[in-house]
Amino acid sequence: MPEHVIIIGSGPAGWAAAIYAARANLHPLVFEGAETEENRVAGTLPLGQLNLTTEVENYPGFPSGKLAEFIRSAVGPERVSYLPPLDEHPHAVTGPELMFLMRQQATNFGTRVITDDVVSVDFSRQPYKVTTLEGQTVETHTVIVATGARANYLGLPSEERFKNRGVSACAVCDGALPRFRNKPLVVVGGGDSAVEEATYLSKYASTVHMLMRRDVFRASKIMQDRALANPKIKLHHFREVAEVLGDDKQGVTAVRMKNNHSGGAEDLPASGLFLAIGHTPNTAFLQGQLELNEMGYIKFTTPQRTYTSKEGVFAAGDVADDYYRQAITSAGTGCMAALDAERYLAAKGI
Ligand code: NAP
Repeated sequence: MPEHVIIIGSGPAGWAAAIYAARANLHPLVFEGAETEENRVAGTLPLGQLNLTTEVENYPGFPSGKLAEFIRSAVGPERVSYLPPLDEHPHAVTGPELMFLMRQQATNFGTRVITDDVVSVDFSRQPYKVTTLEGQTVETHTVIVATGARANYLGLPSEERFKNRGVSACAVCDGALPRFRNKPLVVVGGGDSAVEEATYLSKYASTVHMLMRRDVFRASKIMQDRALANPKIKLHHFREVAEVLGDDKQGVTAVRMKNNHSGGAEDLPASGLFLAIGHTPNTAFLQGQLELNEMGYIKFTTPQRTYTSKEGVFAAGDVADDYYRQAITSAGTGCMAALDAERYLAAKGI
């Protein structure tokens, strides 16, 4: 029997879709992604990009407060060790906590979860097919694609050479490593992510140099103020990375930055280079099965609906959003996609 709903992806869009689909008795099956090193580097681990962040201050319903007790009871003793230490200090929810809570909420209603990547789909005829990295193929009447997006790199050969030896796109994953402690570090980008990464790294680094290719932030005002108020963060305008310098023994030792106004170059001693320069949607596995926009994001075909170019296939979250890209908007479209799938199935009498 084909599944009613398959959800691909396990960020806020995927879990919100699962919660709604499960409560509608559609018995959703979630492919949450594989726990591989490659996925970790790409930022596409189970639980999505929020699992790579720190505190989430803007998700409604989670004001700063004593959440530890609530989280302990909701997550359960067998999984609580996966979370960062639950101290008693008042805090808003963290990204990983929020994701575990959503996952728990979805499974409480009977959502089934497979920890594997979907590597290809066949939407040419019903029932649709999805195939995983481990070779499993599952048939389904509807699919909700919620695979999100992953961090971009600059594409320099020297950057590739020093990946995992000083070059990273995830401060939260790597920032506490001994190689970065009390050392100068470089963050590239001027968006919210760059400020968030620089702020996080400033807890460990001696100095955090933020390299911005323009003289203005893309980050929101509150985040800009945070960067400007942090004495450890030093801003460098009109600067781009020309080359990552280092050796096999030490990894990264400096970043050659280029002034994109004067053309001049300067070597900045640094033990780490953190990229925070935007994202690419995880749509490669769709391989011509759905219409994408010029940046590779899934195109919605109808305003205010999560419909894609294929009937019965819905999209939710960052995989179809190059504009808002917030946890709350992802969760919102996840809910919409589940309702769209439910109505589609009802209309077909399935
Ligand atoms: P973003 O807003 O797209 O910012 C990307 C930054 O990287 C921009 O400053 C951009 O410069 C720079 N950049 C892009 N390509 C570059 C290149 N090749 N070389 C040098 N610099 C480059 O991406 P984001 O910061 O990842 O944020 C994505 C979304 O998530 C946003 O909607 C953001 O609000 C949200 N977010 C929110 C929070 C929060 O509220 N706490 C935290 C993280 C992310 P230009 O400005 O010159 O284009």
